[in-house]
Amino acid sequence: FDVILGEGHGLTLDALDAEIVAGAATGISAEMRREDAILTHPTFNSYHSETDMLRYMKKLENKDYSLVHGMIPLGSCTMKLNATAEMIPVTWPEFANMHPFAPADQVKGYQQMLNELEEQLVEITGYDKVSLQPNSGASGEYAGLLAIRKYQESVGEGHRNVCLIPSSAHGTNPASAAMMDMKIIVTKCDDKGNVDVADLRAQAELHKDNLSCLMITYPSTHGVYEEDIVEICEIIHKNGGQVYMDGANMNAQVGISKPGVIGSDVSHLNLHKTFAIPHGGGGPGMGPIGVKSHLAPFLASHKVSPVEGLNPENGAVAATPYGSASILPITWMYNVMLGKSGLKASTEMAILNANYMTEKLAEHYPILYRGRNNKVAHECIVDIRPIKEESGVTEEDIAKRLMDYGFHAPTMSFPVAGTLMIEPTESESKAEIDRFVDAMVQIREEIVRVQNGEWPADNNPLSNAPHTQTDMMSAAWERPYSREKAAFPNEATRLNKFWPTNNRIDNVYGDRNFICSCPSIESYQDAES
Ligand SMILES: *Cc1c(COP(=O)(O)O)cnc(C)c1O
Repeated sequence: FDVILGEGHGLTLDALDAEIVAGAATGISAEMRREDAILTHPTFNSYHSETDMLRYMKKLENKDYSLVHGMIPLGSCTMKLNATAEMIPVTWPEFANMHPFAPADQVKGYQQMLNELEEQLVEITGYDKVSLQPNSGASGEYAGLLAIRKYQESVGEGHRNVCLIPSSAHGTNPASAAMMDMKIIVTKCDDKGNVDVADLRAQAELHKDNLSCLMITYPSTHGVYEEDIVEICEIIHKNGGQVYMDGANMNAQVGISKPGVIGSDVSHLNLHKTFAIPHGGGGPGMGPIGVKSHLAPFLASHKVSPVEGLNPENGAVAATPYGSASILPITWMYNVMLGKSGLKASTEMAILNANYMTEKLAEHYPILYRGRNNKVAHECIVDIRPIKEESGVTEEDIAKRLMDYGFHAPTMSFPVAGTLMIEPTESESKAEIDRFVDAMVQIREEIVRVQNGEWPADNNPLSNAPHTQTDMMSAAWERPYSREKAAFPNEATRLNKFWPTNNRIDNVYGDRNFICSCPSIESYQDAES
């Protein structure tokens, strides 16, 4: 201490010790201190040293496949790079520790960042105003539908409550419309995956007296640019409705097109998809919405901490005026570091990657939908139904087998049952896409061997996937393929192996039966008595 602080500082180990002991009890008066047992679950009582805690957390982390292991090709999820430089400001106390209701004169820097982000998103979307309040895409949908309803009420059309939704829509669209107590009419898609415009027009005209809005995703969840999107927007407007364009697929639009220019009235942006906020594992997201000027007065505000320029009576869609504001610096950094040309290049690269992958996969698997010039947008749907018909191998078998090859599964059975939807994003290199395609090609060869009867339908590398270390080392191995084939099916896995820790689980059973891993209810009862 003398060396660091100079003489006469008065700090001794004894003095510090006394401070630490006294510090533990400061702040909370004796009668307010809790004396009964808290956090009795073993997880909260098993790791008392930092070493143990660190190892416990690392053990959990080791079970998790993340972008540090390889591509997560989940279609519609846009699992792009969350760059370190983008993430660093999130750790700064100026952003991380600000109270959401701190007085305005104490948050000027924060406000500047929010304003700049809003301006960036206005430019990117072609809308007039952006609300940074909704915490997710789904929450943005709700906020957008609320703005539509309030606008319609303001012009004496509050009775409008019919919401048209094409059958290709994400499940959150009808869920949000249902939360608004709207009448949902599902419109058809043609065999190329596009909205059936004739059916849409017929429904819009049929319901024109009560039409509130259309919810449509562009490019569609089928992974193609909807050629008739401008006409579709016009049909809705002509029949008195508003257009909600689901912006989850903005990764195929940023810098090359804008929802506001196409003719839509409101969209959400999934900042945790297109704009680099990490997601998966339930982390916080952000789903701001952009609106045309006529909807702007009806955006969500906040009673306690009103959003500037908005009527506080508009109500809130989140607990705080700017949602999960502390993660917004990630998107600010993403936009600012890439700049206009970088954002456009990202979109172009995402589309190029998806089309490269589609062409490679198409040599071995049927591709469900393609748009003009046989191209897809930023993702593609591989149709497993014909393969299942021939061989009995399912989309789930392929998803699980990909784990043995060191990949996260693609999106399964969305938006079409029996398919896999794959999105490489701009972040994956050609080498990684090739590694993925190689795995899919090898899996295709395995499917042929099942189909030929070389391996029984219920005992083959696909039906038994994923393979764990326990499987590999078990004394009994009654399978018609080698252990090597199971866990090290190619060179890439021999060089770098990710081990799934569990065999396949029964998803449907799990969905229908609540299974608690806590100590038994009885043990709580015993402790209580
Ligand atoms: C992800 C997604 C949503 C919902 O967004 P969340 O942030 O998960 O609530 C809505 N529509 C589409 C097309 C999506 O991909």
